[in-house]
Amino acid sequence: MMNTSDNSIGARMHELAARLFPMHRSITGQGVRDTFQELSKEIPLTVFEIPTGTPVLDWQVPLEWNINDAFIADAATGERLIDIADNTLHVINYSQPVDEKMSWQELIPRLWTIPEFEDRIPYRTGYFRDTWGFCLSERQKQSIANDERTYHVVIDSNTRDGSLSYAECDIQGKSPRTVLLYTHCCHPSLANDNLSGMVVATEIARVLQTRNLKHTYRIVFAPATIGAVTWLAQNEQTLGNIDYGLVLSLLGDAGNLTYKRSRRSDSPIDRIAENVVSSHGGTTRNFTPTGYDERQFCSPAFNLPVGCFMRTPPGEFNEYHTSADNLDFIQPQHLQNSYTALLEIINQIETNIIPLNLRPKGEPRLGDYGLYKAYGESGHAEEFQSAVMWILNQADGKTDLPSIAIRSGLSIETLKHGMSVLCEHGLLTESTS
Ligand code: ZN
Repeated sequence: MMNTSDNSIGARMHELAARLFPMHRSITGQGVRDTFQELSKEIPLTVFEIPTGTPVLDWQVPLEWNINDAFIADAATGERLIDIADNTLHVINYSQPVDEKMSWQELIPRLWTIPEFEDRIPYRTGYFRDTWGFCLSERQKQSIANDERTYHVVIDSNTRDGSLSYAECDIQGKSPRTVLLYTHCCHPSLANDNLSGMVVATEIARVLQTRNLKHTYRIVFAPATIGAVTWLAQNEQTLGNIDYGLVLSLLGDAGNLTYKRSRRSDSPIDRIAENVVSSHGGTTRNFTPTGYDERQFCSPAFNLPVGCFMRTPPGEFNEYHTSADNLDFIQPQHLQNSYTALLEIINQIETNIIPLNLRPKGEPRLGDYGLYKAYGESGHAEEFQSAVMWILNQADGKTDLPSIAIRSGLSIETLKHGMSVLCEHGLLTESTS
């Protein structure tokens, strides 16, 4: 039994986040590859490289972006006033290259700050746009402003044909029925969003490797939106195996746990995650088509049973997408609590039962299977018949036994008896058997 005050796993997660923090991640490029290199020291990871221009659903894999250096200097002295060596957030992600001398008035439209939090640097991206710019704190902006000065502005970046990288840790269980855990990996030096999701996913992968599992687990690290779209396009043939899924994000802040339901809202992961989050004092909210990559997994043609597991939701804490989302903002005990709750969800998934009707078109002709005899043998014939009818009707492979119990008002035990008789007669199977 794990001592609940023991935060050693949380400390290890925080230490991994600290190693990943300085890497200049984006939706493509070396920062993502360096991140996977670091993660592969912890867990076995397969890295996939999808070439620029590959059609993926309604998108294309973009040009690859890399950055070597970026700064704003005093042109007269060469002194660097703003330098990405200090913080990767200083440059708009995907900025096009620039090497120009300009006045303060010319520079102003290229500078982004957060006036209401004067010490914070904002996080901005310029994906799919031909732009460049710098992000800095309001205080920094005021301290470098000088109408007499000439500024030397350099962004040494390049955008070229390359590839989009994503990584996957697959852990085979007895059944091909799959649990998908997905986390985005495209933000540079931001801790809660989403190094917290990446380090929790890594620790979960580490512990699942040591277990005998009923389900197969696919733990995916990919850039947000375009990465999820690419992964879905590359894996369309096996998406039908996914019985449960969670997007993992924002798992290190001091807020309570939050579960956001899948678009289906009544799939087994929705029931289990809501129970576990509630037992930790957290809350559950309905699906919305905004937020993280549950948007892609829950698009209408896929409609996968994938919810989002987080603490404080995106945009509901003021450190979000700023330099204040740093390594102090995430704490080992909160990472550990997220990890523990996620493991409880997985334990419930492993023991859950999802029945599947093998003759689902109309009711099967029960007499042909000798099932009337079975009715007669039962001590509670009427209840047993009711159980059989409920199971046959609900066993669409997407509804679990506890949900059938709630809908039918029958006990799990009665339903299990019905299930075993239906299985014996070849009318039913369990999705993981
Ligand atoms: Zn974000």
